[in-house]
Amino acid sequence: MKPLLPELRAIVGDAHVLTTGDLSAWTNDWRKRAQGKPLAVVQPATTQEVARIVKACAAYRTMHPHSGISIVPQGGNTGLVVGSTPDASGQQIVLSLQRLNAVRQIDPANLTLTAEAGCILQTLQQRAHEAGYLFPLSLAAEGSCTLGGNLGSNAGGTQVVRWGNARELCLGLEVVTAQGDIWNGLSGLRKDNTGYDLRHLFIGSEGTLGVITAATMKLSPLPAAQLTAWATVPSLQSAVQLLGLAHHHLGAGLTGFEVMGQFALSLVQQHFKALRVPLWQDAPFCVLLENSDHESEPHARARFEALLEAALSDGCVSDAVVAENLTQAKTLWQIRESIPLAQAEEGLNIKHDISVPISSIPAFVQATDALLAAAIAGVRLVNFGHLGDGNLHYNVQAPLGGDAAAFLHAREPEVNRIVFDSVAAFGGSISAEHGIGSLKVEHLAYYKSPVALGLMRSIKQALDPLNVMNPGRVLAP
Ligand SMILES: Cc1cc2nc3c(=O)[nH]c(=O)nc-3n(C[C@H](O)[C@H](O)[C@H](O)COP(=O)(O)OP(=O)(O)OC[C@H]3O[C@@H](n4cnc5c(N)ncnc54)[C@H](O)[C@@H]3O)c2cc1C
Repeated sequence: MKPLLPELRAIVGDAHVLTTGDLSAWTNDWRKRAQGKPLAVVQPATTQEVARIVKACAAYRTMHPHSGISIVPQGGNTGLVVGSTPDASGQQIVLSLQRLNAVRQIDPANLTLTAEAGCILQTLQQRAHEAGYLFPLSLAAEGSCTLGGNLGSNAGGTQVVRWGNARELCLGLEVVTAQGDIWNGLSGLRKDNTGYDLRHLFIGSEGTLGVITAATMKLSPLPAAQLTAWATVPSLQSAVQLLGLAHHHLGAGLTGFEVMGQFALSLVQQHFKALRVPLWQDAPFCVLLENSDHESEPHARARFEALLEAALSDGCVSDAVVAENLTQAKTLWQIRESIPLAQAEEGLNIKHDISVPISSIPAFVQATDALLAAAIAGVRLVNFGHLGDGNLHYNVQAPLGGDAAAFLHAREPEVNRIVFDSVAAFGGSISAEHGIGSLKVEHLAYYKSPVALGLMRSIKQALDPLNVMNPGRVLAP
């Protein structure tokens, strides 16, 4: 049996098997929750190289079943649940897909884009735009996250209310299986009922079933106009009412609907002083709405104004501004997208990306706020998110002046239990978009139905019997 590292060097070249120097970009997670220790960071440039690496690791694992050799696929390493960094064993290979970064094809007639896993999301948006199309997946990490990571985590983001998650945008995948075989499913077909739809197993599997090496994604024609509005609402119930009005007035034109709590916006104002946050002191919540219109800007503006007039007269909006130009619109989105960064500036915090039925959001927040306030004096709640999808980032920050790291260490299990029990009581999900990674493995085991967990284990066993792909993530070992 050949030793593993020389074999990996023979596949990708010495320069692309990293074992020394500063590897923190690959070994530390974005939230600074974990610092792993890899056997090596391996950087293939082609699907064939990925296949040879996986084959080599699977063969090594077969010969040395107790070696712990396994593979952690990694894209931009912006995941928030410690799923893309190695554990501390020194036995895991970080398989960085960043060198697989070709856009293979834009097919205008089929309205599809086929690209490799390591393409940066923002690059794909730009390439689609240059060709006259919209690639609508959009999230605050788009400057560094990758297509493979987006699909591996079934990313959501700010346009889900219109376009759905990464899953809904994907028409086909190319995957290297846990055995090192290449499955080419890049058909780009919109209709294909030939048995089980394998693509959906790999999407959202967080690197535990195989390595996504390329994908065919849906494009749409660019809208003629895109307008953004910022509204203050007197309560979350009013925000839900506004959402209903927005669906009614804008139909498919409603492409964004984000809610932001006052404390979340105060952190942006405090940590990013150059950003002028509008109206945030006037109401407990602000809402960011986006209207994409296929006719014209005047048409978009007229529809937006009709919506806001109806909302003002119903009392579900107390004040509103519509961005006058693209620069103003971008600034409003920048404020929204700066919330996670402002929160990180404020200190370590306990993050949740939960979902409950939209109609239950006000009651969920009221009940859970009260439970947390009763349990932790002075607790600070950073509440914002994709209300249009029933998905809230319901985050918990240490009381003012407290030691954030000590708070996290001491109170996280209790806080998680309060929040997740409440989510379960309201019929929701403990993860709407970030996934399970290693941070929520225990919670998944507790909150998911035993039948669903059993089916998930059967799928893992069938596709990766050697447990070579990202072990310990999603499912407990
Ligand atoms: C500021 C900020 C804002 C964010 N906002 C959102 C948001 O609005 N919505 C949202 O859904 N997420 C959000 N995220 C989380 C994160 O950006 C997304 O999950 C993103 O899709 C991850 O992409 P990545 O390339 O960084 O993947 P990584 O972090 O590298 O990996 C994520 C997971 O996918 C697996 N993976 C990576 N590449 C592959 C591959 N080629 N094949 C198989 N598995 C793979 C990894 O093993 C890991 O389990 C945000 C993160 C940050 C830092």
